[in-house]
Amino acid sequence: MNILYVGIDDTDSPKGMCTTYITFVIINKLKSFGFNIMGYPKLIRLNPFARFKTRGNGAVSFKIPYDNNNDLYKIKKIIIDTVSSDSMMSYENTNPGVVFYEITNNKKMDLRLKKFTYKAIYEILTIKEAKKLAQDVGCEFHQFKNGRGIIGSLAAIGSELEDKTYELLVYRVPKNYGTSRKVSYDSVVKMNKITYPYTFDNLDENYIAITPHTPCPVLYGIRGETPEIVEMAHKLVEFHEDIEGFCIYETNQHTDMHIQKINQIKDMVKDACYKIKGTVDETPRNIEGGHYFFNLKDNSGIIECAAYEPTKNFRETIKLLRKGDIVTIYGGIGAHNTLNIEKIQVCSLAEDYVLNNPICGCGHRMKSAGKNKGFKCPSCGLKLRNNSKIKIPIERRLKTGFYEVPPSARRHLSKQIIRMRNNNVGD
Ligand code: ATP
Repeated sequence: MNILYVGIDDTDSPKGMCTTYITFVIINKLKSFGFNIMGYPKLIRLNPFARFKTRGNGAVSFKIPYDNNNDLYKIKKIIIDTVSSDSMMSYENTNPGVVFYEITNNKKMDLRLKKFTYKAIYEILTIKEAKKLAQDVGCEFHQFKNGRGIIGSLAAIGSELEDKTYELLVYRVPKNYGTSRKVSYDSVVKMNKITYPYTFDNLDENYIAITPHTPCPVLYGIRGETPEIVEMAHKLVEFHEDIEGFCIYETNQHTDMHIQKINQIKDMVKDACYKIKGTVDETPRNIEGGHYFFNLKDNSGIIECAAYEPTKNFRETIKLLRKGDIVTIYGGIGAHNTLNIEKIQVCSLAEDYVLNNPICGCGHRMKSAGKNKGFKCPSCGLKLRNNSKIKIPIERRLKTGFYEVPPSARRHLSKQIIRMRNNNVGD
């Protein structure tokens, strides 16, 4: 069997469009010409620190079987023409890339493509190295403007998902783009009640988390464990506007595919995401704007960790950390070389205490007798030469276990604690 792998990326801008929507349009056009894709299209999230991302650094790929070169030509033409006409070309940072990779006679995919996917999730890559790889492995690529999208397109083609989730995306009709989304809150609450935890991130505090806040074509997206559950959940959601249709994507969202296991703080680099164990080195401090910071250390070094204001209630957990606590942090190193926490496992708690002056034999609390002069009882006048204060233990309000940021602050790639539990992942 001959299979064409198709990768598409960088077609949208903050003002509109979405690569998944262009893919949905392409898949429908292909279907109308009698070409059906194999399985589900893939929505692959890449390095969250990529500089030119529009939102969640997603790229798309799908597979399509073909019989002969005539069909291959028609398929490619439909794809290229649609990307060319529907992308937000006028936006400076929209640089679409389309990659075709043909596999004939059941040959296997070149391993270098699979490795490239991990590189695009772990590192920051250049257009030049993406083009070189495309040439080396025999991919055909089409670049629009500077063709940055070739990076994501190749990575989406090479992706092989051990752990995976699904997202059902519902698309609005164009006349409604940019208007407020008419989705019933109560129906989302009901849908969540019935389908959670097999669907997730449907609600956050008191609002719907499935609807985006951008002028893009997506009405809502439901994320879940299987194609069946996201489709069932979709049927439970009530909305009051016309839709163009929906498409289910297989994704690496909520799999922690971006998290690199590492043994030492000193080996961590900027623009990458890690799981790292260390000791809290100070009581967390806050700065204006409601951001919390603390230093984490191990034998190799120290890194500053952050829970920023958008992580909302998660900061209440961070505030409770104390010097000496042992924690494992999952997060990414962004600007200022600070580790931005996605979730934390509190492994063990240090003793917390306050230091008080000693109590005199007569029952009164003693006072300092001056610097390095010990204590003096204000009642009976007894003096103590020893300068040491008394440690009074304080009950820790924090418990050991996992804590995570709320859905509104969650990275697309971050695995929720509920998924870790259900898949028996974790320490
Ligand atoms: P959306 O999620 O709405 O599709 P987006 O956030 O995915 O938007 P894009 O418009 O796809 O943003 O732009 C991301 C750009 O970054 C693409 O050109 C992609 O090829 C490129 N890119 C992806 N991963 C990397 C990486 N690791 N290093 C450098 N560039 C990357």
